[in-house]
Amino acid sequence: MRILIIEDESPLANFIKKGLQESGYVVDVAEDGRSGEFMVNENHYDLILLDLLLPDKDGTDLCQGWRKAGITTPIIMLTAKDDKEDIIHGLDCGADDYVVKPFSFAELLARIRTILRRTSMTPATSKLTIDDLEMDLTRREVTRGHQKIHLSVKEFSLLEFLLRNKGRVCTKTEILEHVWGYFFETNTNIIEVTINHLRKKLNCGSRRALIHTVRGVGYIIKEWETME
Ligand code: CA
Repeated sequence: MRILIIEDESPLANFIKKGLQESGYVVDVAEDGRSGEFMVNENHYDLILLDLLLPDKDGTDLCQGWRKAGITTPIIMLTAKDDKEDIIHGLDCGADDYVVKPFSFAELLARIRTILRRTSMTPATSKLTIDDLEMDLTRREVTRGHQKIHLSVKEFSLLEFLLRNKGRVCTKTEILEHVWGYFFETNTNIIEVTINHLRKKLNCGSRRALIHTVRGVGYIIKEWETME
């Protein structure tokens, strides 16, 4: 999952970025409205954290502009204003949620999870499942059968991305963009290596394979019953 932070207070932006990265998200930061606009046009984000008071633009104007242009990416507004009218105005401009500064990081994380759950077409639960595999996003635990599987941060993010797109082929470009991020070196075999590690861990005890290679395109995770 890839998140854009548009925030001109560097220490705050870096604090949020670090926390989100530790939770397995891919994060970009824009320090003003103009670069935020550029990055939204250039990349595909799963969620945007938008500060309302930016040096060059007004956050609500940006939000309104994107909605008018048909950009439906979920937006959480970060605001120092706790005035009710400002918050209502922000939501009317098309934001999905808001947090008032100073906020607790745990709360921000919970709100991000809630919104991603709502928009990713997965059932209203913090768990993603396939076959006998269960992924608990809140506790960051993966089990297959009753066996706990320990994954690295990237393996976890990769599995989450595939599961959110269950039954659909994910291209290597998409995977790189959402799991490793825009600035990652693209001519490496990092995806193949991580997929192999993930497969080995998920197929522990010679269980049914869940992740399948679509040659020349990418990977798909699907239910065993739908296999030929
Ligand atoms: Ca600001």
